Amino acid sequence: MGSPITRLLRRLDGAGFWNVQVWEFGFRSLPRGYAWLFFLRAVLAHPVKAARGMRRYRGFIRRRVDISAGLSSPLAIPDEEVFLRGIQTQEPRPLVGLGFCLKPYDPNDPSASCPSGRANHDCLYLERGEVRPVCADCAIHHLGSRCLAGGCPVYIMTSAKDIARDFLFPQVGRSSFPSAILLLCPYSVRAIILPLFICGVDTLLLVYARGSCADYGQWLKADRGIKEERTMLNGESEEKLLGLLEKLGAGEWKEGGKRKDRRFVRGGNIFYPD
Ligand code: SF4
Repeated sequence: MGSPITRLLRRLDGAGFWNVQVWEFGFRSLPRGYAWLFFLRAVLAHPVKAARGMRRYRGFIRRRVDISAGLSSPLAIPDEEVFLRGIQTQEPRPLVGLGFCLKPYDPNDPSASCPSGRANHDCLYLERGEVRPVCADCAIHHLGSRCLAGGCPVYIMTSAKDIARDFLFPQVGRSSFPSAILLLCPYSVRAIILPLFICGVDTLLLVYARGSCADYGQWLKADRGIKEERTMLNGESEEKLLGLLEKLGAGEWKEGGKRKDRRFVRGGNIFYPD
């Protein structure tokens, strides 16, 4: 249930008060480093973009006040038409953000767990093309290979601070990632929409159907790398993502398969198709 203040903030979120739906998350984030880092390096450092992003965010919430924590369908920012037009005409191609919680994990069996470790940006397959037996059942391998064919950079997302440093700040400062496809838990959707508008990222948000964090407490633990459950996309989201990646990759694969030897090259925490 939560304290009276939490209940009040949830009510404000539910009503979309002042066309904002990040009251609870924003209030609980006030003492956290990630919130202040974002405020200093995105909002204060780029006040015009932040003001424009806030205006567009409020318009978005006004049009769709039903972004609930139970969201299960893909959600495009600012809308599907703009997102699709952007990814088909823009370079670079959309960054695909995959949660570290997609990695296989069994605390009692190292052979059934990701050999690159859990809460980090690493992956043997993305880094060296190495595929261990456990990788055959890993969404990061499965989706990563489609991203390679589609020419999309891949980022294994961990904490909010790292997401800000690796993805949002390079975008708001240098337009490094004008579009993105992010896989995340339904609870995080409300929290990330405002930063995406402020940083100017056209985004498709796809939510997990299983294993996701259900509230701020679970989210905060996962943000610190404590997350045992393995997440999984629902069928609709997976189909949508694979369809988009196939479309993006179709042109190159048709050219006699000459790019079949493609591999990823790591730059910081991001894996770029070469
Ligand atoms: S594909 Fe990457 S993330 Fe998945 S199990 Fe293998 S090394 Fe780990």
